[in-house]
Amino acid sequence: MPELPEVETIVREIAPQLEGSRIARAELKKTDVLREVTKPRLIKALQGDTIEQVYRRAKHIVFRLSSGHRMIIQPRMTGSVIVYERELTRDELKYAVLICTLSDKRKFVYRDVRRLGTIWLLDEAGWIGYTGRIGPEPLEETFTPFVFADRLKGTRTAVKKAIMDQRRLAGVGNIYANEALFDARLNPAKSTHKLSVEEFARLHAAIVDVLQRALASSGTTLRDYRTGRGERGRFQFELRVYKRGGEKCVQCGKTLVETHEIDMRTTTYCKKCQR
Ligand SMILES: [Zn+2]
Repeated sequence: MPELPEVETIVREIAPQLEGSRIARAELKKTDVLREVTKPRLIKALQGDTIEQVYRRAKHIVFRLSSGHRMIIQPRMTGSVIVYERELTRDELKYAVLICTLSDKRKFVYRDVRRLGTIWLLDEAGWIGYTGRIGPEPLEETFTPFVFADRLKGTRTAVKKAIMDQRRLAGVGNIYANEALFDARLNPAKSTHKLSVEEFARLHAAIVDVLQRALASSGTTLRDYRTGRGERGRFQFELRVYKRGGEKCVQCGKTLVETHEIDMRTTTYCKKCQR
């Protein structure tokens, strides 16, 4: 969390506001979020550079600078990126990690309550290497059931674990893995290599569908996730299994069960609908 729909929502909102903007000043309040970069190097790379493009890859927000550097923010559990056209309030400043003041005085801020997110800085070659190790993007047209089955075939791990593995498939985390498996009527613990062609096709369709519906609702806000405008998502009202352990299945009325045995995280499913 945030997963693909949340990060995509943030990117769609902030990209038009940031692309073409020059960063006049960058301030980093905390350094424990940094990966592959030191504070002085990050500040030096940002200050005076122009943001050429803002896009999403898997669960990352990628800022391509005119120097060719990529600043990559992964908001994880409690991070958000918001563009402000005013001064920040004291409360907003409290959790601000990175504050970039643009040449027209607007500010774009990465805030992270528990600082579980990360900021990376990679050059062109570093980025190409990194993105090459991530699996296909599920909302791209080239992501067909065949591509999906090909990325997962031969995997003996539980199917839930396999679809959350970013090297096999980009952008799916615990929320949408739970939801897609329910929609596809598949037991999350089933070994991936035992899936039939028909089951791969069903799961492919369910993943694409749940991600598109969540994106249409600006993502899922359970606690800290906010859109690029600082608003809550609405998909939490449409979740069928995630966080609903002990409640009734929307399909059959049987009580949904929770397990932590698949991947240490909460898996919620219906024993009757997902055999
Ligand atoms: Zn059921």
